[in-house]
Amino acid sequence: MPEQVGTIRIVDVHHHVGVLSLSEVRGTKVEPFADLSSRLALMDEHGIAQACLFPANSYPQAQGILDTQRQNDYIAEYRARRPDRFPAACAVVEPLHGEAAVREVRRVFEELGVNGLVFHHRFQGGPINAANMYPILDAARGYHRPIFVHVIAESQLESPWRLEELADAYPDVTFVALDAFSSPSQSQWMSYIATKHANIYFETGAMTSVGNRLAMFLARHGSDRLIYGSDCYMTPRGYAVPHPKNELLALGLARDDLERIFWRNAYRVLGLDTGGNER
Ligand SMILES: [Zn+2]
Repeated sequence: MPEQVGTIRIVDVHHHVGVLSLSEVRGTKVEPFADLSSRLALMDEHGIAQACLFPANSYPQAQGILDTQRQNDYIAEYRARRPDRFPAACAVVEPLHGEAAVREVRRVFEELGVNGLVFHHRFQGGPINAANMYPILDAARGYHRPIFVHVIAESQLESPWRLEELADAYPDVTFVALDAFSSPSQSQWMSYIATKHANIYFETGAMTSVGNRLAMFLARHGSDRLIYGSDCYMTPRGYAVPHPKNELLALGLARDDLERIFWRNAYRVLGLDTGGNER
């Protein structure tokens, strides 16, 4: 491993908070913030300086929009607990909530100051490009914040062509495809999509390294639109090691490329201060 890698700031843009419920996991009561110290310990253990927080996307919703608001209040408060380690957090809105979801878009940006929105459609009752997504994006586009969309390979609701439709409909909006390289075939698909949609970034959560597709993506497109993330859950812990980080560090990339992938691209997309040096 090159000597200079140890000095590169590593930001994980894909950390979920909660299990899908703040109250209960497999019968076990989970208190808010219970995973904060273990999350920081995991980050320290693997040299992760900072993380961008997402709510878990399939929380109980018996109270509808009130449950969503609780998720979003919580993620903002979690970020506020350690802004040095969590400089960014994104909110969830539910497409099935209709007008209430549109109002929540305004609330999370104007009152909570979140850095973006995150969707995981296979937990949200419809596909990425459902008609009920459009009013949400109509409301969100004016805030100029990124829209993170899971496209995990195993979900047809999250099939990447559906994200392409949104990217075409909203060329002024920045989208981040989460879990973009989650199968060998899908990794090739991402490389093709990157040629068609300048407003889509690509994130490394749940990636497979089989076929060396990440290196091939970088050879074709450079490092300007690749963002490091690990798809981290802490309750229960979702993996033993953040594999995409190890894979990226082992590819023999130049320092500039690593800087962009590990934090500069994320900072730029999230609207964070890069210290005046964009490259
Ligand atoms: Zn995720």
